[in-house]
Amino acid sequence: MKKLINILDFLPEELENEIKPMFHVKQLCQWIYQKYVDDFDSMSSLSKDLRLKLGQKYHFSPLQCVNFLQSQDGSIKYLFELNDGLRIEAVLLPMKKEKFDEKGKRISHTKYTLCISSQVGCRSGCSFCLTAKGGLKRNLSAGEIVGQVLWIKKHNKIPYEHRVNIVYMGMGEPLDNLKNVSKAVRILAHNDTFAISPRRQTISTSGLAKQIKELGQMNLGVLLAISLHAVNDALRTELMPINKAYNIASIMSAIREFPINQRKRIMFEYLLIDNINDKREHAKELVKLLNGIKAKVNLILFNPYEGSIYKRPCMQKALEFQKFMREKGITCTIRESKGLDILAACGQLKQRSEEL
Ligand code: SF4
Repeated sequence: MKKLINILDFLPEELENEIKPMFHVKQLCQWIYQKYVDDFDSMSSLSKDLRLKLGQKYHFSPLQCVNFLQSQDGSIKYLFELNDGLRIEAVLLPMKKEKFDEKGKRISHTKYTLCISSQVGCRSGCSFCLTAKGGLKRNLSAGEIVGQVLWIKKHNKIPYEHRVNIVYMGMGEPLDNLKNVSKAVRILAHNDTFAISPRRQTISTSGLAKQIKELGQMNLGVLLAISLHAVNDALRTELMPINKAYNIASIMSAIREFPINQRKRIMFEYLLIDNINDKREHAKELVKLLNGIKAKVNLILFNPYEGSIYKRPCMQKALEFQKFMREKGITCTIRESKGLDILAACGQLKQRSEEL
């Protein structure tokens, strides 16, 4: 049987050669991305011939959900199986609850962030990460990345017009799969699909300096988050072996060239690990490092998993670190550890499912 192609891999204009006129492409995209219809046959505004032709060549189900866990805080972690049997994770994080005025009329919708995967496994080898343990299996295609957003929006009945934020912070190093990730950014941002502005899409990297430069040259308008986690090369290499290839100085130099919107900042993720990188001296070094960069620091308390050699610091230490950063004029937040009870650190649901 002929292998079907994933239609989510294509930008609307790439489909135009085949599905003429462009109007039909727009209709097709509305069915898939906006009405969440899941078979070509039900796309009643398309001619029968076209539906048949599409069904013989394409599919749009690159993954299926095989497990999920809902946290007490409302976040849901999904385990997806791809069509070749490999598995990835994605997380839906409700960030702000819907609001109503005094008459009970809704004035704002629930705000969601979707944390999605870019690779099956990862080769960056971070010592605190479960995904790193199995190495890299393969890159996800653009359509498999887009498919995670489609599945989560559809199954949570999040209407098309409710904007969501996307963070490429699930399994994998997004910049190690730059070609497909940048295409997914463009597909998700397209007005005929989800219209998720690149300013709502954050690419989080372990610091591949060369690819940060390439991403900057693409000028997609995405936000950038750097998983820094340490302020000197010795400690960073211990935590993140990728630092041997791209040391802190090379990352900082790539960041200084990265185009950012006037009102935006580069996000520095800093995973606080008990007695490893959470002391005053580390905060001081971090301030020095960020000198001259429009930066925001996001402190994350390490999410321990079974067998992990690192420990979670107490909140008091995180608050002291944050206070020091703020006194030095650096915006600094402490990320709520959403999903702590559902193993939301990357790779943990997949790992657990393989143990069962
Ligand atoms: S933390 Fe991210 S970059 Fe590092 S090994 Fe895990 S998935 Fe890869």
